[in-house]
Amino acid sequence: MNQPVVAHSREELAKARAVLDDGEVAVVMTMGALHEGHAALIREARRRARHVVVTIFLNPLQFGPREDLSRYPRTVDSDLEICAREGVDLVFMPTPDVIYPDGDPGVRVSAGPLGDVLEGQSRRGHFDGVLTVVGKLLHLTRPDRAYYGQKDAQQLLLIRRMVRDLDFPVEVVAVPTVREGDDLAMSSRNIYLTDSDREVALSLSRSLRAGALAAIEGPSAVRRAARAVLVAEPLALVDYLVLVHPQSLLDVPEWYRGEALLAVAARVGTTRLIDNLPVRLGPGGGPLESFSTNGIDSGIDLGIDPVAGA
Ligand code: AMP
Repeated sequence: MNQPVVAHSREELAKARAVLDDGEVAVVMTMGALHEGHAALIREARRRARHVVVTIFLNPLQFGPREDLSRYPRTVDSDLEICAREGVDLVFMPTPDVIYPDGDPGVRVSAGPLGDVLEGQSRRGHFDGVLTVVGKLLHLTRPDRAYYGQKDAQQLLLIRRMVRDLDFPVEVVAVPTVREGDDLAMSSRNIYLTDSDREVALSLSRSLRAGALAAIEGPSAVRRAARAVLVAEPLALVDYLVLVHPQSLLDVPEWYRGEALLAVAARVGTTRLIDNLPVRLGPGGGPLESFSTNGIDSGIDLGIDPVAGA
């Protein structure tokens, strides 16, 4: 098992990255506390690229003042073990002053309207912070492909948009959500959950599955079935439960058939959890492993005007 090179500074990164110039490079960006979800991204990255770079950076810019930055789990040793086990070539692990040498940047990437809904509504400025650091890390690591989890569907969509709208020379690849045996979506934040919280947390994936089972019948049946599960679990404090178009994030109208995103966010105990399921609505409907297209690069229109909604 080869140990990855670990770079902390920009200079160390530039030097180690230059050595990887003999083939394709893939990057997996993380905030650390690595789990099997992250490992799945690394494995996907390894399949096609000669070299894999993992970044581990807890980005202060994407955390609100009342969020969990200070208590976010830090497990550096085990993170490096997982990177070594998965054959990662280079781990970039900077501190905030390396990424933001002049303090909080005055110039940032704006996520635009798609950054104001769903997660962005509860977490103001979150996606500007995400896109700013993703943009910087893409510049610093210079990958051919970058891998992101479907677990963070809105983040994935916004990164795709940024790459297209701002002409970043990188291919964005999505990886399906990895789940625990009990169907809880893996997350670094799951360690905050007590045993009883965890029981409550299972209502999120259960609600998504129930919704997906009604997909043949159409949007309102999906929403009804998913909502019924959450209503039966009052300890899950639901922020949103939506069935939206995968590119516009607008609620799909009742006539809509095709691919849609069923997404939920809820607070359980002290922890805010998100989960989602790609679904196909209409004949042959049900849960999807992943969307058939990202709709952005292909120009395929899935049947909804992203501006008007219908
Ligand atoms: P994070 O460290 O939580 O910022 O996540 C880093 C990357 O791993 C992001 O692209 C996430 O979407 C992805 N990721 C996190 N959890 C999972 C999961 N359970 N399955 C697949 N990808 C995940």
